[in-house]
Amino acid sequence: MDKKKLIDGIKQNYVLKRIRAEEECEDFIAKLREDKNFDNIYTDYYKKNIEYLKSEYEEENLELKKEVLELKNKIDTYLKIHNIDKAKLTPHYDCPICKDTGMNGNKICSCVIKEINRQLSTKSSSQTKFHSFKEINQNLMNSTDSKAYTKITEWCNSYPEKINKININIVGSAGSGKTFMMECVAHEMIERGYVVCFKTMFELNELARLYHIGKSYELSDCMKADILLIDDLGTEPILNNVTKEYLYNIINTRQINRLPTIISTNLSPDDILNRYDERIFSRLTNKNLCLNIQLDSSDKRFIENKK
Ligand SMILES: [Zn+2]
Repeated sequence: MDKKKLIDGIKQNYVLKRIRAEEECEDFIAKLREDKNFDNIYTDYYKKNIEYLKSEYEEENLELKKEVLELKNKIDTYLKIHNIDKAKLTPHYDCPICKDTGMNGNKICSCVIKEINRQLSTKSSSQTKFHSFKEINQNLMNSTDSKAYTKITEWCNSYPEKINKININIVGSAGSGKTFMMECVAHEMIERGYVVCFKTMFELNELARLYHIGKSYELSDCMKADILLIDDLGTEPILNNVTKEYLYNIINTRQINRLPTIISTNLSPDDILNRYDERIFSRLTNKNLCLNIQLDSSDKRFIENKK
C-alpha cells in the first residue's frame, strides 16, 4: 500500500472527524439555548469571555476574569439542575492529545501512527476487530492459562529488547482460547506501533497457492509484516508443492530476518514432524528461537466474564 496515500486519507478523515465533533457540540448548545434562561446566561458568558480573552493580550483584567468565572458557575449550576453532562458543551475528540488534528506540536501525533499501523495490518477475513488483553481477568484463570498469559504479556512488553525468542507457539486443543490469545497479541503489538499480519493457516495456504500460480502477491505482505500471526496451524489441506514449501520459506526467512512469527496449533511436536517435514519441525522446535506456550481448555470464564 502507498504510505503517502494512506496518510492523506487519514488526514482527510481527521478533518471530517473534527468537524463532526464540533458540529455535534454546536447543535447541542443550540438546543440548550432554546430555553431562554440558559440562552441569557450563555450569551453573557460568551460575550464576557471574548472580552476577557481580548484583554489578556494587553493587561489581565481581574474584574472581568471574576465575572467570566461567575457566569461559568451559573452555567454549571444550570446544567446540574437539569441533569446535563457538562462534557457535552465541549467537542468530544477521539484523541485528547491532538484534538483530532493529527499533530502534536510539530510532530505527527501517536494516534496517527497507530492508525497507520492499524490500516497496514492485515486481519483474517473473519475478523473485524481484535480482542485485547484488557478483556482478560487473570484472577479467573487456572494456573496453566495464567502462566501462559504471563509469558505472552512479558514477551509483548519486552519486545524488541531482551528478546531471543522470535517464534511463539501457542499450543492447546480446540476451544482453549488460542485464537483469543493470538488476537490479544495482535492488538497489543499494533498499539505498540508494529505492522501486524494475522491470518488463519487456511488463508495463508490459499495465499501461497495464489502466489504460486501468479494470481496474488499478498503473501509477500505477510512475509514482510513486523509480526506475523498464523492461527490454527494444521487445519489447512496440504497442497502439493505449496503448503510445506511456502510454510518453510516463510518461517525460515522470518527467522533469518529476526521477525517474530506467532503460531497457534493443537499439533504436538510429533504431529508437526509427521504432517510437515523435518525442516519445518526443526524451525518450529528450535529451543533457542522458540517459546512454547501451553493453554488449557477446561475453563474459559476469564474471557466470558469480561466480554
Ligand atoms: Zn492524536
